[in-house]
Amino acid sequence: MSRHFDTIVIGVGGMGSAACYHLARRGVRVLGIEQFDLPHDRGSSHGFSRMIRTAYYEHPSYVPLLQRAWGLWKQLEEESLSKLLHVTGGLYLGTRECELIAGSLTACRQHVLAHELHDHRELAGLFPQFRVPETFVGLYEYQAGFLLPELCIAAHVDLAMRHGAEIHGNEAVVKWKTNDRGATVTTTRDTYTADEIVFCGGAWTSKLVRDLGIELLVTRQALGWVQPLRRDRFQLGAFPVWAIGHEDASLHYGFPMHAEAPGLKVARHAPGMPVDPDAIERRPHREDEASFRPILREYLPEADGPTLSVRICMYTNSPDHHFIIDRHPQHSRVTFACGFSGHGFKFASVVGEVVADLAMKGRTTLPVEFLGISRFSAVESGPSDPA
Ligand SMILES: Cc1cc2nc3c(=O)[nH]c(=O)nc-3n(C[C@H](O)[C@H](O)[C@H](O)COP(=O)(O)OP(=O)(O)OC[C@H]3O[C@@H](n4cnc5c(N)ncnc54)[C@H](O)[C@@H]3O)c2cc1C
Repeated sequence: MSRHFDTIVIGVGGMGSAACYHLARRGVRVLGIEQFDLPHDRGSSHGFSRMIRTAYYEHPSYVPLLQRAWGLWKQLEEESLSKLLHVTGGLYLGTRECELIAGSLTACRQHVLAHELHDHRELAGLFPQFRVPETFVGLYEYQAGFLLPELCIAAHVDLAMRHGAEIHGNEAVVKWKTNDRGATVTTTRDTYTADEIVFCGGAWTSKLVRDLGIELLVTRQALGWVQPLRRDRFQLGAFPVWAIGHEDASLHYGFPMHAEAPGLKVARHAPGMPVDPDAIERRPHREDEASFRPILREYLPEADGPTLSVRICMYTNSPDHHFIIDRHPQHSRVTFACGFSGHGFKFASVVGEVVADLAMKGRTTLPVEFLGISRFSAVESGPSDPA
């Protein structure tokens, strides 16, 4: 006979681990099913650091969710007795008109966020690590830093288990169905039943949930670590998280050096080559280094030292690059969270809370209407704006 749970969470990565934690904490009988190890480096949540910001240039509607996410990360640190979040401040560089600066300023003004705006000359004195054109300004925000993603997943999973969740690693979901009486999930090992299913399958979402009616584009992304020429300038405590906005709306970004991974991390934020998550080439190519090396040469010359590591990760891009968190339009027992488009990890703590609400009550008081799937039905008649 199959075993029954209140809720089965499919995919225990960044979002799924948080969903398991929030559900278990509320007394829900949870089964979390993950196809790989816990955590692992074959999805979207590995690489030792994820930036967390508050002045959200992508859209100011995310700011209230971010403020809740910050509180939940702090709560997770306290409950797990682990250091998961380093607050470093964030420096965003570009012309006043570029999306990064204009969007961050809008978010700062709309939500009264502590920030400073510096011109080219001030930047040279305050942040001598950067060599930027005279046309650039720098927006510095205080509430920014980075999370340690593998440790965040480990903490969510460990606490979920402490609250009674059952978590299975190295077990892949192969099929599922729902009807009026409940849901059935079949894996490579067993069959389980539940009242509700939550899908947090990241890059595999389109393979797991085929009838969402939207295209999720999975892309291959490279991350680089280098040995800076002047180590003292780039250490944690001396250097903030940073991003440089380009005219084509792409970014380069990076982190201070810290103990969890040797070297200074830098990467490009823009969708890379489309890939199948089951067939992705994880060995680095020569072009992967070319995605970040010229930026070091031009803007951070004292960081332009030898390459230490290049790692590969995946973005799951939604059609408008905003997240999709909702109940499934056709299956009443299904909740899903996907399409995090290369900027979702910082929200994982609050996404766990949102999907727990949706699975348990069918609704949430957290402000996520702008991330609902129905916005894509309006795409044909006009541009989709999450506001
Ligand atoms: C290079 C890179 C840099 C990034 N930088 C940042 C950043 O600085 N700040 C930020 O906020 N965000 C950043 N992001 C985005 C962020 O990391 C992702 O949005 C987030 O990690 C996505 O989490 P997820 O839970 O959707 O995916 P994942 O963590 O990949 O979880 C999905 C899980 O589902 C499992 N799964 C799939 N199919 C099955 C199945 N059939 N059976 C069982 N399990 C299954 C997978 O194995 C996986 O563990 C970055 C992403 C990348 C790739």
